[in-house]
Amino acid sequence: MTAGCGVCAIHADAAGHGRWECHRGARWIVRHHPEPSPLAGWTFLCSARHVQGPADLDDAEAASFGPAIRTVSRAVRDLTGCDRVYAIAFGQGAAHLHVHLVPRFDREDGTRAWNVADWYRSVERGERPAADTGDVARFVAGLRTRLAAEPIG
Ligand SMILES: [Zn+2]
Repeated sequence: MTAGCGVCAIHADAAGHGRWECHRGARWIVRHHPEPSPLAGWTFLCSARHVQGPADLDDAEAASFGPAIRTVSRAVRDLTGCDRVYAIAFGQGAAHLHVHLVPRFDREDGTRAWNVADWYRSVERGERPAADTGDVARFVAGLRTRLAAEPIG
């Protein structure tokens, strides 16, 4: 854990964030966006170790990154029924690799490409309703089951 890192703090806060955690392995932690969440299924693939981004992964982390992001992205697609899954990683708000895996539905133009950033902020500001809590809980349960069956390390 690195002091001052928001992602490390979340990973250490089982009481506050454990209900959204879907997987915890040696290299990867997968969790749903905390609530209020912009969309049910908005998932993070995070490095267990504090590294800013892919440039800082060690060899074992780099080797498992591809299979991990594929497995989690497929699970997000299957569990939400979305048309595709966006993968976005800035490493800016917290300098700790956390890839946003965002379910994208063609029927909802507000989530198309960069529109999803406006969607995100409008939920954050309370201008758009957040994802339904029951939908989030069902997704989390489903992703836990899926990643228990398909371990990603
Ligand atoms: Zn960190």
